[in-house]
Amino acid sequence: MEPQKIFSSVGKCPVCDSENLEISTYVYEVPYFGKILIEVWRCGACGYRKSDVGTLEHGGEVRIVFPVREQKDLNALVIKSSTASIEIPELGVEVSPGPAAQGYITTVEGLLERILENTPTECFDENNECNEFVKKIKKAMNNEINFTVILTDPYGKSAIKPLNH
Ligand SMILES: [Zn+2]
Repeated sequence: MEPQKIFSSVGKCPVCDSENLEISTYVYEVPYFGKILIEVWRCGACGYRKSDVGTLEHGGEVRIVFPVREQKDLNALVIKSSTASIEIPELGVEVSPGPAAQGYITTVEGLLERILENTPTECFDENNECNEFVKKIKKAMNNEINFTVILTDPYGKSAIKPLNH
């Protein structure tokens, strides 16, 4: 199913202050999960873009604790809204959402890939102290170590869903 546009409006761009910000909201059916909302911000004047995702839940803060033990846990679906923070204590990962944070749909493995992408390049050098961090993340991606993904979302719009199919 293609995402269905359900709402769109025009507002003020947070970057250039012009009234050219188009906000479009889509609803999208994720297989084995259900409906999620996708919001896309696009400024026609300066090119600013932001996207966000979220479940249709309306609730308070949720804290999702998802243990990763087997290969299939790495394939669990992660809906991370822009307001959610990520913590993986065993790997020393702590990501708090800044004002530029995006929301996205990925898998646990995809989440680790994103963390690697945001790791400073010098850490990929074996002589650097922070190379230990990169090694740990890679081990985690290969299911060689157990770890726990903790997603905290103040608006309750994030989710982690194991694949049972
Ligand atoms: Zn703009």
